[in-house]
Formats: sequence, structure tokens, C-alpha cells
Amino acid sequence: MKLYNLKDSNEKVNFFQAIKLGLGQKQGLFFPLDLPKIEKEKLEELLKMDFITRSSNILSYFIGDEINQKELHNRVKKAFLFSPPRLVKITKNIACFELFHGPTLAFKDFGARFMAQMLSHLNQDGNNSLITILTATSGDTGAAVAHAFYGMKNVRVIILYPKGKISEFQEKLFCTLGGNIHTIAINGSFDECQTLVKKSFNDIVLKKSTGLNSANSINISRLLAQICYYFEAFSLIPKEKREKIVISVPCGNFGNLTAGLLAKSLGLSILSFIASTNANDTVPRFLATGQWKPYTTISTISNAMDISQPNNWPRVEELFHRKKWNLKKLGYGSVSDTETKHTLLELKKLGYISEPHAAIAYKLLKNKLKDDQFGLFLGTAHPAKFKKTIENILDITLPLPKKLAKINNLPLLSHNMLPNFSQLRKFLLDI
Ligand SMILES: *Cc1c(COP(=O)(O)O)cnc(C)c1O
Repeated sequence: MKLYNLKDSNEKVNFFQAIKLGLGQKQGLFFPLDLPKIEKEKLEELLKMDFITRSSNILSYFIGDEINQKELHNRVKKAFLFSPPRLVKITKNIACFELFHGPTLAFKDFGARFMAQMLSHLNQDGNNSLITILTATSGDTGAAVAHAFYGMKNVRVIILYPKGKISEFQEKLFCTLGGNIHTIAINGSFDECQTLVKKSFNDIVLKKSTGLNSANSINISRLLAQICYYFEAFSLIPKEKREKIVISVPCGNFGNLTAGLLAKSLGLSILSFIASTNANDTVPRFLATGQWKPYTTISTISNAMDISQPNNWPRVEELFHRKKWNLKKLGYGSVSDTETKHTLLELKKLGYISEPHAAIAYKLLKNKLKDDQFGLFLGTAHPAKFKKTIENILDITLPLPKKLAKINNLPLLSHNMLPNFSQLRKFLLDI
């Protein structure tokens, strides 16, 4: 697969180069030069396959020229071998597609684990240089990346997160591991963490001497992995309901939405998408007014979406442009914390215990869905990750899943730091 840099189309790389680089020159994102398309007949065949087999087939449309099918299949199997996503019916024409049954209880397990497998594949081919994964997390990336790379040879992981702005369990899941996982609580916002990561990548000396790599959703490998579960969702929807599918995606950095749109561009027949955000509504305001005007990031109860400068948005625009799709057809909306709480109560009445991110997607889906359409909203994280919030809002006791009970009493091993690049630089060179 060839990719070009969205800020400098002269810079072209292949898939494995793009994984290692993360970002291109001028902090540009990589985007596929060719957008493969799956023929109708082949698509029918794919939909009948099991999740792992289908996923490795889909991925081979993009990267089949750089990794052989058997190896790709084995890698996908290692990455995705946990409880698969589930489709849970909520109303007659709405279902939640639960993507949170992996090791760290969020959809980010798919992307992070596939990326780890691809890097491990690269290293197995005699390329044994040290890799430093530097990533910023607004809540769930940290855990997914930490677990995906934990104990991996020649890899060390540094995770930055906004101190006090992620849930207790989100923090416990990645700040208690130790070993090759280093975590830093930054006294600032997620956007400031993201800026620190970008600055590090711009520092050529630092980048070379530490073998810097980002596992953020800017990494193309994560996006490709996420395409796969949209096909799984489609295969789980009864045939008679597949005509007009609308998918509402709770958006932060807009990686998940980009992956869904790439699934559509491959030929999966999804009628439309809704870009759902919380009060950090840069994209909904942009779609309404045509003006890109990020405000300061606001803390909300859907903290993994507290992002006002979404990294992946240029990819969404590029895809619409390349496919000649009309950006006006992209649904959008933002939901306040108050509305999110009401929606969680509404879902509880329907017999479904959800969490704030999915609730935002449900709320906008319900408002926009027409009678003849079938709607999916993505369940991006397990409700227990936000135990206290949910218990307060719904007045219930949430049982703790085993994966969380195990880590509940472990001490946090994080360092503290101001959002100061020279301090971070020193840390990266010293460890
Ligand atoms: C990361 C995350 C999101 C946002 O996903 P993006 O791909 O960054 O848009 C939404 N919900 C949860 C629970 C998340 O962890």
C-alpha cells in the first residue's frame, strides 16, 4: 500500500514505513493513495466468513502487497482473539454495537493490538532496533496501547494523560503495569498532551535517538484494524434491515469515524454516518458554519471525547473529497452533559445500562433516524470503566468485571509533569 502525506503529497511511503513514522513531514497525516473497492460478489462471500478470517481478507486489500496472507491471518488472530463485538437490540430499529469486550474494555483494543502485531512482525524480520512508543490518551488509548505492548521486546511505552481528567479505572488499567510501560500525568488538558507528542515528533534528534513512534489514532495501522468491525456489524444485522443503515459514532479524535467511512469506501453499503460529539463541538460547528474554530477543551462526563482539535479530521475531509461524497450528507450533533445524563436514564428504562460516550451517539441517532432506517450506535467502552459516574446517575450498583476487580487495589506508578516540552524531552532521553 502506498500512502501520501496530506500536507506534502510528494512524500510517499508504504504501509510499514507509515506505521514506523506515525506522522509525515510538517506533522502531516498519511492517507492511502489507492482506495480499494471490494466487488459485490466477493463482499457477500466475506460477510459469511468468521470475524478473524474476514478481517485478514479485508486488510489484505490494503496491505496484501507488503505481508503475505498467512502471516497476516496469524497476526490478526493474535490481535483480535478475544470476545468479539456484540450487537444488542435496544428498540425495534436501533441496536448498540458493543466494541468493548476486549482486554481493556474499549474499542481501542482492536487498533492498538493490531498495531503491536504489525510492529512485532517488522521486528521479527531482523529489524531489531529500539522502539519508543509515545502516545497521549484521553482515557482509553492508554490502557489499550499499554496492554498491547506490555512485555514486548525492544519496545518501551510512554503514555501521557491529563491529570485528574480520566476515570479512576481508565487510569488503573494502564498506570499499574510497570515494566516497559511508563506513564506520565500531565497537569493540563488532553490537547496539551497531544501537542507534547507532536513536538516530540518534530524533534529530529529526539526522534532518531529514541526510535520514536506514536500509537495514537493518527497511526494508519489502527484505523485499518477498525475497518474490520464495521463489516462484522453489517454481518450481524438481519438481511431485511441492511438496506438503510445509519451508524452514529461517538467522536473524539475522529479515528473511529474515519474507519467507518473507509469501510463504506470499500463497498460496505452503509447509508450514512452521524458524527456525534459532546460539548467539544469543533466539528459540528464546522459542519454547520463552514468555520474551523476550536475552543478551549471542556471537561465532560464523556472524557474520552474531550478533544477540541481532532487529529483525524483532515482524513475525513480527504476521503469525502476523493470519493466525491458530499460533506453535507454527514450527520452531526453535539450533546451536553445534562442531556447525556437524561439519555442514560432513558436507556436504562429501555433495559440497557450504557455509559456516557455511547449515550451521546444514541441520543443523536434517535433524533435523526427515519422510520424506514435501521440505526446502530457504537458502544465504545464498558460502563464499568465509569463506575462512579454511572452509579450516581442511574442510582444503581454496577458489578465490577473481573478485568477491573483484579487491578482495583494496585498502586499507581505514574510520574507527574507540567505540559512542558523540555521536561518531557529530558525524560525520554534519560529513561
Ligand atoms: C477514544 C474514544 C472515543 C473517541 O474515538 P475517536 O476514534 O478518537 O473518535 C469514544 N469513546 C470512547 C469510550 C473512547 O475511548
